[in-house]
Amino acid sequence: MSATPPDHQPTSACPLEGAGRNGGARRARSAGKRGWSWLRGFGGMAGLALWLIVGCATSGRPGKVALPAKHSLKTDQLLVLSDVRLSSDHPLIEDLKLLKEQVSETLELPIGSRQILVYLFESELTYRQYWQVTFPGYPMRRAYFVQTPDKQLAVYTFWGDRIQEDLRHEFTHGLLHASLSTVPLWLDEGLAEYFEVPGPAPGQVNSDYVDRMSIAIHNGWRPDLHRLEKLETVDQMQRTDYRESWAWIHFLLNSSPDTRQMLLQYIGGLRHNSTPGPLTDELLADVPGADTRLLSYIATLNSYSAPPARTAAKSPAGEVIPASAEGEP
Ligand SMILES: [Zn+2]
Repeated sequence: MSATPPDHQPTSACPLEGAGRNGGARRARSAGKRGWSWLRGFGGMAGLALWLIVGCATSGRPGKVALPAKHSLKTDQLLVLSDVRLSSDHPLIEDLKLLKEQVSETLELPIGSRQILVYLFESELTYRQYWQVTFPGYPMRRAYFVQTPDKQLAVYTFWGDRIQEDLRHEFTHGLLHASLSTVPLWLDEGLAEYFEVPGPAPGQVNSDYVDRMSIAIHNGWRPDLHRLEKLETVDQMQRTDYRESWAWIHFLLNSSPDTRQMLLQYIGGLRHNSTPGPLTDELLADVPGADTRLLSYIATLNSYSAPPARTAAKSPAGEVIPASAEGEP
């Protein structure tokens, strides 16, 4: 598992944003899918700017960069090939193990056993050089999830200060695709956004998203799940769509037992149904005024407290320690 399959073709990606969940200069995201392979990705304007600067400095197209292969770490169904040495008890790895349990428990979903391969580059530069040469024409993102025709599940990313949320986001894609026949784009991204936020339990609030959505609502924006469900490619999916997907997932999972059960049943149906119908019709029939209820729900999120952890007494990730701080390359 050291080479990218020749027919590895990304089919969509997710855009990211500049500001972080806690108001700092963090985050951005994106994803997409289509055809015989799927791809979800992360990317940010700051990173793009850096790439353009580096590109000018080095002049011309980057040379061929190999996939990370210096270090290999296998645990459970996760295989990490990296240029950064990680121990099996590194907080990042422990966090992903816990995340798998949280996804399974939250969604009441048996997680499939397919291996999820993570290619972890040591720097943004080598990652970007690899991506541009291997997937020319596809938008640059901070991280990508790719599913190949032969069902290989792979994450591509680099060691940076957002590595924890990037890995959580992309690993969630991997867990979903390891377990379900298909994953509608809005659902795939909404769940990845939902689970990427670190904390003692799933459902932590992305306050940056809430702030941005609150402003949008004030300016007249209204949710439209029917429209979201029609989106199929990253080109169609804008940053606002990622936020809306996250909000729908948060609302459905946490606003009432009925909405939670509706979503879990829908997700459960995807285990064996590769051509699911839309969730919208059922939602509007069972939850009258769902759009309005979502607006009210978003208004409560800044004071929302996620339910206490049910799975974990095992240490959540906490702060991720960069390899350099541990004396590692
Ligand atoms: Zn994604």
